[in-house]
Amino acid sequence: MAPEVVVIGSYVQDLTWRCAEFPRAGETIVGTFVTGPGGKGSNQAIAAGRAGARTLFVGAVGRDAFAVEARRFYEENGIGARWVEKPKQATGTAGILVSQSGQNEIVVALGANAFLSRKDLVPREIERARILVVQLESNLATAAAALKIARKAGVATLLNPAPMRAEFDPAMLRSVDILVPNETEFTALVNRLAVGGRTDFREEELATLSPETVHGLCRGLGVETVIVTLGRRGCLVSRPSGCTAIPAFSVKAVDTTGAGDAFVGGFAAGWVRLGGDIEAAARFGNAVAALSVTRLGTAPSMPRAREIAAFLKKR
Ligand code: ADP
Repeated sequence: MAPEVVVIGSYVQDLTWRCAEFPRAGETIVGTFVTGPGGKGSNQAIAAGRAGARTLFVGAVGRDAFAVEARRFYEENGIGARWVEKPKQATGTAGILVSQSGQNEIVVALGANAFLSRKDLVPREIERARILVVQLESNLATAAAALKIARKAGVATLLNPAPMRAEFDPAMLRSVDILVPNETEFTALVNRLAVGGRTDFREEELATLSPETVHGLCRGLGVETVIVTLGRRGCLVSRPSGCTAIPAFSVKAVDTTGAGDAFVGGFAAGWVRLGGDIEAAARFGNAVAALSVTRLGTAPSMPRAREIAAFLKKR
């Protein structure tokens, strides 16, 4: 059966070292280590798949042990994936140092992800989906091409503009139906597009603005639906007809890494499951993200459909 949600994006193996304090230049210290599947695209696909949508992830990997791990994780989870092999490249990796106080330092090597090319896309996979989800963590030209294929076929398009990059071409927004930035990405977009003549907009300002004012800025981005995620404050849905603030669920957060990915994947699955109701899907996305922040890790912390249903029933 054709997938409902197609996610085209990055797979990155997270390599996480916990240490008392970050080592100084030239210093060697002893810490503890865990590794697991990560990458924005992959995390979003796992979130959507576990939340109950038939999902296909398309991403590039190398020919190494991390690629084996990636395949194994998807098989274990029963989520569809098409791995484009780039034999000369390494699978993407992220070296993450986490100090006792919870701060982190991260180096990401995109590796094979940067080489996912237009030619690797199979248009038929996109054309049969209900919604296409892309981010900015793999090849930008390929992401733009995928959005165009979907738009032409009448498939809904969602862009999570993360991480915001200097090479991002705002023309990409013309093929986007639903844009989901967090506060940092929203701030960068407002400045990049000089919305309302602003090029000095600051993220701290965002929290002080009324929903209507943020809605006005969203309208300046030229995308039909903009959903700004606001961390523990939930999200703001801006559509041509008006805006709706959707509060987050109150939970005991232990690790908010990947909350945005949980929201995007959860939203896409909710959008499919709830017949394209944007506000209901955003509430569903809030629930998926809330559950994910109550556990350590990114992809492994994504909740499953039954758990989400039980959570929503109680609230
Ligand atoms: P990112 O991870 O990209 O920075 P956000 O911090 O905006 O994204 O979080 C995305 C979503 O995760 C929010 O819209 C909200 O639904 C949920 N979320 C984040 N932090 C919390 C929290 N402390 N409690 C409950 N939900 C949260």
